[in-house]
Amino acid sequence: MPDSPAREPSAPEPGVVALRLAAVRARVADAALAAGREPEDVRVLLATKTMPLDVVREAVLAGADLLGENKVQELVAKAPGLADLAPTLHVIGRLQSNKVNLALRWAACVQSVADLDLAERLSRRCEAVDRDLDVMVQVNVSGEDTKAGVAPDAALELAAGVARLPRLRLTGLMTIGAASRDVALVARGFARLRGLRDALVASGEPGTGDARELSMGMSGDLATAIAEGSTMVRIGTAVFGERPRT
Ligand SMILES: *Cc1c(COP(=O)(O)O)cnc(C)c1O
Repeated sequence: MPDSPAREPSAPEPGVVALRLAAVRARVADAALAAGREPEDVRVLLATKTMPLDVVREAVLAGADLLGENKVQELVAKAPGLADLAPTLHVIGRLQSNKVNLALRWAACVQSVADLDLAERLSRRCEAVDRDLDVMVQVNVSGEDTKAGVAPDAALELAAGVARLPRLRLTGLMTIGAASRDVALVARGFARLRGLRDALVASGEPGTGDARELSMGMSGDLATAIAEGSTMVRIGTAVFGERPRT
């Protein structure tokens, strides 16, 4: 059978995305119940990197209302074509300081704040355009040097600094789990993030009292993350299939 020319060869067939999204929601619900939690306490964010607009639209039409992009270029390329469906868009990848203005045009939240310099830039820009912005502090719980994020030991100080900045609302912490098949090791990293979140919320620092979000868990480790308290899993592969190598 010939391939449809309008669709990239790597993109999933029509209908598949909706089915896989339903399967992910079922996995999330199962994991939540198994952990003694309510399924609705864990939101699903779809990580749409490399996926073309038509595939992302299909996911949103199937009920995905929360999307994350790693690259501002991709955010800017797809967001106008999603505007009629009004999904909430988050930045979940490294944000270069020269892309802050572009990101703020479309993003409701930047999850990948890992230094005060970026936070200050975001805050100043929000003041200039008279808006508020949700942010999370990204923590590198695994210590893998390929991963972005502030070191766990420095996370609370950074989070308190971020929470004090005008127009930024600190909603919680984000991490990428260890790249390991050792489930106990991965779980310890997620538990570390939860411990930091608990300490943050209890710190009494201005602006930290509501920073309860734990953005952790991806296609391969979502159940582990939910068992450790995740409130938001970020899912790509389990819904969109393997990404093309770039
Ligand atoms: C790609 C990505 C995800 C999703 O990963 P999958 O393993 O494809 O589910 C989640 N978070 C971030 C920051 C990502 O870059």
